[in-house]
Amino acid sequence: IATKHLLPENNINVVVRVRPLSNKEIKSGDEMAVQFPGDGQIYCDAVTSSGDKKPKVFSYNVVFEPNATQEDILQYSGIKNLIEMAVEGFSCTAFCYGQTGSGKTHTLTGPPRLFDKMDPYSEDHGLVFRSFVYLFKVLQEHEKCNFVLKASFLEIYNEKVIDLLNPGTSRKPLAVRWSKKTRGFFVENLFTVECEELDDLLAVLEEGMRNRSIGTHNMNEYSSRSHSILTINITSEQAMENGVFISKQGKINFVDLAGSEMTKKTQSEGKTLEEANNINKSLMVLGYCIASLSDGKRKSGHIPYRDSKLTKLLADSLAGNGVTLMVACVSPARSNASETLNTLRYAARAKKI
Ligand code: ADP
Ligand code: MG
Repeated sequence: IATKHLLPENNINVVVRVRPLSNKEIKSGDEMAVQFPGDGQIYCDAVTSSGDKKPKVFSYNVVFEPNATQEDILQYSGIKNLIEMAVEGFSCTAFCYGQTGSGKTHTLTGPPRLFDKMDPYSEDHGLVFRSFVYLFKVLQEHEKCNFVLKASFLEIYNEKVIDLLNPGTSRKPLAVRWSKKTRGFFVENLFTVECEELDDLLAVLEEGMRNRSIGTHNMNEYSSRSHSILTINITSEQAMENGVFISKQGKINFVDLAGSEMTKKTQSEGKTLEEANNINKSLMVLGYCIASLSDGKRKSGHIPYRDSKLTKLLADSLAGNGVTLMVACVSPARSNASETLNTLRYAARAKKI
């Protein structure tokens, strides 16, 4: 494989995935509000108060149309480049952004199931599974290096960080702290699992997914409000011919964000102020960080990473030495067109970073 040692021109690679209309939407007579003229472009009918439809045009690195497969996302989203860079010692993040029901979890993990009962070639497998497989392929090609993989899986709900791998302490919030040594934020006492083979990584994914729903009455409601972050830390060591050891420390985060509609919805639901602020705080601050970064402030200006748990944990990928892939997930349905437009605008802004 050709590994790129230089940072790509843009630190954020933005792709859009449009899910198919669901059976329910088709039955209720909903129709497509988006069109695909090609060349990374997407048209979305604007919803105006007078009811007429004026299409808005957006363009991105890649637009995945409703018939795109899970394998297409692995091959053409740029995730393979991120995995190669994580192996080379960079901090990388892939996150799915979009309203609830737009396909974020489908894209990352596919439908809930037990992995050991699944055909390894099933179309259902999401980007995380496929990335794990690709990661091991990349590691095998680095014959002269010694690798250690450590995985962790957490979620942020109400600005509280919860460990999805440590049942003993699960639901007990953990602290996010600054490390002077690594000059980065970390989660104190977060459980990490050393993974030697693919099955170890899959066990982490499965265990975390299972723990996500524990103690929740309504999984959909819950997942629309929480962010989950699955991290693989990759340490590599290589002995050079002169006897010197070169050690590199990279990582890749897979992030399933809360529903993007949450930033508005919470304000109208009669939540306590603290609840309302906390639920959307991470998502709002991520938006501010993306806006500041796209404003060309990356090197000089102030980026408000410290204002939320999510942005603290993603700061190293968003800042100088990292690479981020944003998969903006949208529904094609007319009934969702205003949220789709919000997501497309947000994604267009991120593309400028
Ligand atoms: P989110 O995590 O953004 O709330 P989900 O991933 O749960 O959304 O998707 C909502 C529903 O749409 C699920 O039933 C899911 O299986 C289905 N879905 C999403 N994307 C696709 C797709 N690309 N192809 C087929 N079904 C999809
Ligand atoms: Mg989801």
